[in-house]
Amino acid sequence: MNRTCVGCRQRSQRADLLRVVSKSNVLAFDPNKTMPGRGAWIHPSSDCLTLAIQRNAFGRALRLSKQIDSSGLVFTKEQAETMLAKNE
Ligand SMILES: [Zn+2]
Repeated sequence: MNRTCVGCRQRSQRADLLRVVSKSNVLAFDPNKTMPGRGAWIHPSSDCLTLAIQRNAFGRALRLSKQIDSSGLVFTKEQAETMLAKNE
């Protein structure tokens, strides 16, 4: 099952991407990929994250019209690897 990264727009396997959801316009990772509602998918890369935020790709993918808060989405490489490892 392939998904498109909202940062670089490349398709990848679900297991290689992180899921992002919004709660009241605040973006957060969904480490178990089980939270209800719309999700946006992104590579665990700060480049993809920066691109997605610059393009407001999360707002579009999640159908959010208001200003969104992406400050909770900063992650380190180690955190990203931990989130992906959980999914194996
Ligand atoms: Zn990407």
